[in-house]
Amino acid sequence: MGKRWIGVLATALFTLGVLLPAAPAAAAPTFKVPFKCGQSWSGQTRSNHSPAYAIDFNRTDDLGDPVVASAPGTVDRVTDLGGTSYGKYVRINHGNGYTTYYAHLNGFNVSVGQSVGYGKVIGWVGSTGGSTGPHLHYEQRLNGNDIQVRFNGALALYWGTKTYTSDNGCGGGTATGTVNTSGTPLTVRSGPGTGYAAVGTVADGTTVTIQCQTSGTTVTGTYGTSSIWDRIGAGRFIADAYVYTGHDGYIPNVPRC
Ligand SMILES: [Zn+2]
Repeated sequence: MGKRWIGVLATALFTLGVLLPAAPAAAAPTFKVPFKCGQSWSGQTRSNHSPAYAIDFNRTDDLGDPVVASAPGTVDRVTDLGGTSYGKYVRINHGNGYTTYYAHLNGFNVSVGQSVGYGKVIGWVGSTGGSTGPHLHYEQRLNGNDIQVRFNGALALYWGTKTYTSDNGCGGGTATGTVNTSGTPLTVRSGPGTGYAAVGTVADGTTVTIQCQTSGTTVTGTYGTSSIWDRIGAGRFIADAYVYTGHDGYIPNVPRC
């Protein structure tokens, strides 16, 4: 079959509703200030920074202070560039094209492939790479492109210096749950609903780490009817109705995604 005919066929199938459009676009993760709950840090943006929308964070005697994941995700880079550029840096993949970068670290507290939640210490403030003094260089990116930083949905100050107070991981973190489907593998979706793409399965009886919870499609499962979805990795959600968490409804201390 020629390409032209494949195109015509695809158009016809789409018109008939056989080929469904992509799942709804996922919203940005709720990013939080990348330091421990309650800490205040001075964040500076400047138009000659590279990349332009990065923030450099400082506070008094900040060398060695813990740096935490600004949103749930999976660590996909733990890299030491030596005496240039980022030096020691971590990248977290938050799914749906979003990543965050943490550079000039003194040391690492995570490894590639590790699942992290809000408040997880990933490393410590340092002055490695092309840095002239201790600070955290922080970036948010979408599909690899530097984007303007937002915390809890609020745009950072461009351009200038502002104090940011962390509510990251306050009183919470991750929880574990056990999948109970009475045998059938549970479908993992790319977002919190049955309209999102299936991206895998988890076997009955599997213990999962719940990074955060959100509401989505209402599902009736082993534990009743619920619209809660559990995030178990970057771009990986399962219906809470099939997960034993020890709690009806939202789990106390686990953040909303
Ligand atoms: Zn910087």
